[in-house]
Amino acid sequence: MNATAEQRHEVLVLGAGYAGLSAAIQLAARTRKRGNLRVTLVNPYDTFTERLRLHMTATGQETAEMSIPELLDGTGAVFVRGWVTAVDAAAKTVRIDDDRILRYDTLVYGLGSVADTIAVPGVDDHAYTLNSPQDAALLADRLTRLDGGTVVVGGNGLTGIEAAAEIAERHPGLQVVLLGRAEPGASMHPKAKAHLDAALARLGVRVRSGVEVVKVLPDVVELADGSTVPADAVLWTSGTRVSPLAAAAGLTVDERGRVVTDNALRSVSHPDVYAVGDAAAIRQGYGVMHGTCQGGMPTGVHAALSILRVLAGKEPKPFRFGYYHTPVSLGRSDAVVQFTRPDDSPRRIVLTGKRAAKYKETVTAAPWPTFARMKKMPASGALWPHGGRYTRIRSAK
Ligand SMILES: Cc1cc2nc3c(=O)[nH]c(=O)nc-3n(C[C@H](O)[C@H](O)[C@H](O)COP(=O)(O)OP(=O)(O)OC[C@H]3O[C@@H](n4cnc5c(N)ncnc54)[C@H](O)[C@@H]3O)c2cc1C
Repeated sequence: MNATAEQRHEVLVLGAGYAGLSAAIQLAARTRKRGNLRVTLVNPYDTFTERLRLHMTATGQETAEMSIPELLDGTGAVFVRGWVTAVDAAAKTVRIDDDRILRYDTLVYGLGSVADTIAVPGVDDHAYTLNSPQDAALLADRLTRLDGGTVVVGGNGLTGIEAAAEIAERHPGLQVVLLGRAEPGASMHPKAKAHLDAALARLGVRVRSGVEVVKVLPDVVELADGSTVPADAVLWTSGTRVSPLAAAAGLTVDERGRVVTDNALRSVSHPDVYAVGDAAAIRQGYGVMHGTCQGGMPTGVHAALSILRVLAGKEPKPFRFGYYHTPVSLGRSDAVVQFTRPDDSPRRIVLTGKRAAKYKETVTAAPWPTFARMKKMPASGALWPHGGRYTRIRSAK
């Protein structure tokens, strides 16, 4: 028997990224026959953004189009295309950019993160980002039009390293300069770092570590020591920023604006709101999780399982996740895979070269078939490393 609109429990999932899609599919697939729960997924585009491939988009490489409505087909979940402009946590409504108001009983907040273009003056005005396929395509267009010159990559974390390597490989006529505070790959095992350094050198990437960018101008980057680096294009990858919507809605957020959750992934201030992926501050035994899709997808699945347990009158289980690898592409035929302990510290095991590139491609391509499989077999989405003693919760004696 179908529930009336008043009886139906409305779950609204904001953001169809790695985490939001995992939550929506897990929930919809487990409840499709019930009729008393409806899942609505809101996202600005109807295609899935493979963020892990945006450095490829930025160098003019075609990537697959993945239709979100097609993926949801058969699950009963509803797709709403729109940009969320406000969350009213008291009224339990969400406003989207065409002024539609969507009501919820339970909210899953998965709006992800973008590069921090605010902290350093000039970045927002003059630098390119990998925040969306459109942003990446703008850089691709600029790079094709450059006839020689220098591309500065600001930020030498994993995204910066991957982007610098990709640009250098695809545009050998351009000088690529990679700027950052620490050494690239500083947290990796020396074997992995040595491979990474050699690959960047082979590709001709000029690495300048120990520097602080203080300003970005149209054709130059200024450093804290007063020196400058000429730039025909600047790609900014340093730091991340989250949507201000959660804080504006009065949800408890951390110093970076991420929603602080309890161990079931509920907002600590608003238990009818679950937060997942990069937008959430999720504490584990080793500290607060950092944004990755290896951790983001499990948060989405776990939020879905918590919601179902709460609706069934049961206590939700604590979320536990342990990292297991850091795969970094170094162009299309080289990579380094650093295997890690659950707290993300490096093990001695490292994969490099062509086998690592294959591994990285397998990992990058995995989410879409994972979503499709989860649609048919929801339990298949609930398999991830729980982190063993690194995340074990000891009960008080
Ligand atoms: C170039 C690059 C390479 C990366 N490589 C790796 C890697 O190799 N391995 C790894 O684990 N991680 C990698 N990451 C990080 C990884 O992509 C993120 O941790 C992951 O995308 C987080 O998933 P998410 O679902 O929280 O957010 P996202 O995947 O960013 O999804 C958020 C969704 O919310 C939507 N959204 C945002 N604001 C609004 C709004 N106001 N209204 C409606 N919708 C909105 C967005 O459009 C998006 O669809 C990489 C990131 C980048 C940029």
